[in-house]
Amino acid sequence: MRIANVAGRLTVVTPAGGIDVERASGGRFPADPAAVYDRWAEFTAWAAGLDGAAEATAVDEADLGAPSPRPAQVFAIGLNYGAHALEAGYDIPEVPITFTKFPTCITGPHGELPIVGDTVDWEVELVAVVGRRADHVTTDEAWSYIAGLTVGQDYSERRVQTLGQTPQFSLGKSFPGFGPTGPWLVTLDEFDDLDDLLLECTVNGALMQSGRTRDMIVSVPGLISRLSAVCPLLPGDLIFTGTPEGVGSGRTPPVYLRPGDEVVSTIERIGAIRQRCVAAAHAFV
Ligand code: ZN
Repeated sequence: MRIANVAGRLTVVTPAGGIDVERASGGRFPADPAAVYDRWAEFTAWAAGLDGAAEATAVDEADLGAPSPRPAQVFAIGLNYGAHALEAGYDIPEVPITFTKFPTCITGPHGELPIVGDTVDWEVELVAVVGRRADHVTTDEAWSYIAGLTVGQDYSERRVQTLGQTPQFSLGKSFPGFGPTGPWLVTLDEFDDLDDLLLECTVNGALMQSGRTRDMIVSVPGLISRLSAVCPLLPGDLIFTGTPEGVGSGRTPPVYLRPGDEVVSTIERIGAIRQRCVAAAHAFV
């Protein structure tokens, strides 16, 4: 099942088009996409019974918003693919390197990316959306706490990311528009192998990143277990799970995004998200 935010309304996307959940459910579920994660099991049981009789309308991709538009917490993992850790100049981490993307940076799948500095970089990532409160869960049960998967970009201003005596990853990854997600959430039953998905990123049509999620150093269940041992994970929370090799800062010479560039990020069985880089109204560096 594909669950989308269409112009701020919770929508089930079917081959025939989008089904507006509030209308099709007679008001049982509200239109707000952020509200559904608190009732995820009830919602998916209802949605599984949709028989196609509900009215489906064409979905305009320009109307798509973030599948989870107001997460209480956004976790992001650095250096979770070995080849990327090495290109970034680090050793293979022994524990997940964890930071946040502050939630105001979370946007929908398609739009503009303000270029706030000279070192804005791309990172395609698989994003897991939490479907029920997870508190000290084991790796074996971890997937059952996830509502579904979506595509994310962990855009990063590298200079800001490393400002200060100790690097403060979070601010450099939280400028407006730096956390696009979508095009929709895909439920776990749609995947043959949850732990092996191809993810790719192109810039102006040139393939920059191509990796597989099986190469994560700590798998999605492992991340859920480790994170939930510290912070309870809440319905609607996002986990950006790390990026494979091929970012701009790892190239010789480095390559960074400029106004006019187009970035397309794709994960198999989920879809693609697309940003057009534009000059920022407020350049930071
Ligand atoms: Zn990242």
